[in-house]
Amino acid sequence: MEGKRSPELFIMTHNPGKINEYRALLAPLAIPLRFPADIGSQVQVQEDEETYAGNATRKARAGLQVSGLITLADDSGLEVDALGGAPGVRSARYVPGSDADRIAALLSRLDGVPWERRTARFRCVIAIATPEGELYTVEGVCEGFIATTPAGTGGFGYDPVFYLPQFGRTMAELPPETKNRISHRARAVAAAMPILQRLFHRTER
Ligand code: IMP
Repeated sequence: MEGKRSPELFIMTHNPGKINEYRALLAPLAIPLRFPADIGSQVQVQEDEETYAGNATRKARAGLQVSGLITLADDSGLEVDALGGAPGVRSARYVPGSDADRIAALLSRLDGVPWERRTARFRCVIAIATPEGELYTVEGVCEGFIATTPAGTGGFGYDPVFYLPQFGRTMAELPPETKNRISHRARAVAAAMPILQRLFHRTER
């Protein structure tokens, strides 16, 4: 492979929560990260595929198109067993409004569901698209329970109601370093790291 490519990784997300997490999670790669705001891009990708991988791929390819750089994108969601896996791939658009509105809707749909049936998981699928046309997808999962009331101010999205019994806290009550060790996104990044190391190692020659 020729060594002319810019050794920068484009992260195709506008979500401030994800941006913070990727800055920390990808620091060990020691490659400059670029985000849509850095190149003045406001491109929004329709996320109406039926799978996380479909949406993540769509976002990664759109990011590659606007940046010309190797691009990483994720699609993620919360799967609640008592709701047949909902909101799942539709987590961001479960109900219109804010994260607080979506949490309120989730808790009302789980009203009266006993603790042992409140099992849930966060899933994150990362897609990586390269200018050479390669595409990689990897996945990470984090298991927990849906709390009966929100707690904590860290993280984003459904973190205030995602309870981790091993910590006795919600994801939003954990320090960011701890979330970034155990989260679905952390696990997906761990799976993506060998791919990223190889892609950037070969461009640096
Ligand atoms: P998308 O991946 O941009 O489609 O958004 C996924 C949605 O899932 C977000 O809007 C959040 O509501 C939720 N989500 C994804 N990752 C997390 C997380 O780490 N914590 C809490 N909620 C998350």
